[in-house]
Order: sequence, then structure tokens, then C-alpha cells
Amino acid sequence: MIKVTTKRNGVVIGYGGMGGWHTRYLKESNAVNLLGVYDIKPERNALAEENGIHAYDSWQQVLDDPNVDFVTLAVPNELHKPLAIEAMAAGKHVISEKPVTLSSADLQDIFDASAKYGRLFTTHQNRRWDCDYLMMKQAYASGVLGRVFNIESRIQGSRGIPGDWRGKKEHGGGMILDWGVHLIDQMVGIVNDRKIERVYCRCDHITNDEVDDGFQLDLYFEGGVTGRIEVGTSHFISMPRFYMTGTDGAAIINDWRENTRVVACKDWSEKDVKPVVTAAGLTKTMAPRDEKTTVESEITRPDSDVHDFYRNWVATINGEATQLVTHPQLMRVMKIMEAAFESDRVGTPVLLDDVGVIDPQ
Ligand code: NAD
Repeated sequence: MIKVTTKRNGVVIGYGGMGGWHTRYLKESNAVNLLGVYDIKPERNALAEENGIHAYDSWQQVLDDPNVDFVTLAVPNELHKPLAIEAMAAGKHVISEKPVTLSSADLQDIFDASAKYGRLFTTHQNRRWDCDYLMMKQAYASGVLGRVFNIESRIQGSRGIPGDWRGKKEHGGGMILDWGVHLIDQMVGIVNDRKIERVYCRCDHITNDEVDDGFQLDLYFEGGVTGRIEVGTSHFISMPRFYMTGTDGAAIINDWRENTRVVACKDWSEKDVKPVVTAAGLTKTMAPRDEKTTVESEITRPDSDVHDFYRNWVATINGEATQLVTHPQLMRVMKIMEAAFESDRVGTPVLLDDVGVIDPQ
């Protein structure tokens, strides 16, 4: 657990789905005094008051309150930039929900404001604390799979894209900006020793024409490592959450509540391969291996505490820690998302030459 010596005062802006989460987690982190919330809808403010949380009368009132050290922005995506810049100009530090912005130019404007006003800015990349991701990071780094050449990360639902602002382009809707931003951040967190050279993406429009309701994105890292990310919202059977293959073995997580299954080769001198017989022929090449030539093990779910996101944030404000989710990391993910949109538009891979191995996370 990250240590925090002095608590800081925070206000959550937007008391919707994620705003509710933030009010709970900020308090549970024991690093923050939650001063209140502000939502543009009076009924959401009334609900906050019912839940025992002070609701500010206006955004300006939050900005004018000298006791507020930072704000957490849990509003639709197109509002992150203007609110973040206004808050920093008013002397507040800012946590923005993801995706920070809809373009790298807008993101740069936020970083410039952060430098100009001397206020900290970060983004809630909470899925860095997901156990499935942490186990895959461990599998990659351990070397047990030999030279890893392929990593697949998938999230698949069957209810289409949510019918709220997430289906609208002007609000920064679509699955690349919603789930993609997490899964890309995780993929570059796993393969944190290689540059990405090319990006290829195809977007789905099964239930929504305006924004992508799913996508298949390939990140081609240098040295022949491919990271495939797929998000789907029309899938009634889900594929495994993570799958990783190396020259000596493979690792799989079927479901995000599971441990990781690892199968590695222990004997390459296999002689009597029993063929698989199919209706139309037989194959030795594709026959499964048995326990004589492989060894199976498990990576167990680590202890992971997402409250450390807030503890690190407060410790950074206090000058006692270094910010975990950094500006170069955020810019790298943004540029990959931009390249993904561009690749989908032109129908070919897009070269990526300025988001190398930076800030391994
Ligand atoms: P939501 O629609 O449930 O809530 C948004 C709230 O913001 C609403 O209550 C709305 O009234 C309020 N709002 C709109 N404009 C406002 C303004 N100008 N000032 C104050 N309040 C305003 O949406 P949500 O699901 O909570 O998503 C909010 C943000 O959180 C988005 O950026 C989304 O991408 C992000 N999010 C992150 C995660 C995560 O795991 N990190 C999960 C879900 C959502």
C-alpha cells in the first residue's frame, strides 16, 4: 500500500456512473477528504445530498473554493479538456477520466496548461490494477514462454454500445475511446521493452453507424511482437480475455476472475506423435501435446489495490511520490488511438514513429 502523510481535499465533477465510483473510492483510499460533488443536473446533486455528500451549487463555486486541492472529472469525454484547463487556471490539480481528450492536439493543450499554471494533471487509468493485466505482465516478463511473439487481449459483450452519450461522436463515443484506451494502455504496459512500428485497425458498426461499436486493432512492435486488441459488443460467446504465445509455451486467461494457465514445453525430442483423425484426414502437425512433453503451471491473481491510484496521486501532490500515470504515457496511448482511427479510414496499416519505448509502466 502506498503511504500518504497528509490527506488532500477533492471534489468529484459529474455524479453519474463513474462519479459515484469516485466518491466511494476517494473516501476508501483514506488519502482524500471528499468535500463534495457538482453535477450539471439538479437531480444528480439532490441524489448526492440524499447519499450524504455535499453538492456544490455551480462549477464556479467549486473553482472559487480555496479549500479544494483537486477535482476529479467524471463527465462525458468532450468536456474533459475545457473543465481541466479551467480548473488548473483556478489553481486546482486535476484527475480526468479516460480518455483524456479526443485528439493529441487537445491533450497537448492540457499538458501546456498544467505547465503554465504549475498544477498536476493525470488520468484515471484504473485498469492498470486489474489482476488479469498484472498476471500477463508477469508472464511476459518471466521468460517462461521463451520469446513472446503474440499477445491477444479481448473484451466482448452482447448488448451493443450503451444508448447514452457513448453512441455519439460529438461526445467522444465509441469503443476505441471507451475500452480501447484501457486495453492499449495495458498492452504497452505488458510489452514495455519495444517500440510500436505500425498500427492496423478495423472498426465495427454493427449496431451504431456513427461511432465504432467494436474494433480489431493490431499493434506491431519491433522485433516481431504483435499485440492484438479486440473489443466487441455483439458477441454472445466471449473468446479468452488474454492469450499469449511464445516460442516455448503459451499462457491463457479465459475470464477476468481466473488465474492464468501456463503450458510450457519441457521436451522437444518428441518422436511418436499420435495424429488427430478428422472426417477428411489426419494431422500430426496440429495434434495437441500431452503431459510427457509439457509442463503446466499457474500464475495466481496478485493482491492488487486500485485505491493506490488515489494514494499515489495525493502522495504526488504532497511531493512524496512520482506520478504513476504520466503525460508521455497518456500521449502515447492517444497517438495510438489516432493511428487506429486513421488506419480504419484508409484501410491499411499506419506507421508510428514517434511513440517509442517511453516511461515503461
Ligand atoms: P454518466 O453519463 O453516467 O455520468 C456523467 C455525469 O456528468 C452525468 O451525471 C451528467 O449530468 C454530468 N455532467 C455532464 N456535463 C456536466 C458538466 N458540465 N458539469 C458537471 N456535470 C456534468 O457517464 P459515466 O459513465 O460516469 O462516464 C463519465 C466519464 O467516466 C467518461 O469520461 C467515461 O469515459 C469515464 N468512465 C471511466 C471508467 C473507468 O473505468 N475508468 C468507467 C466508466 C466511465
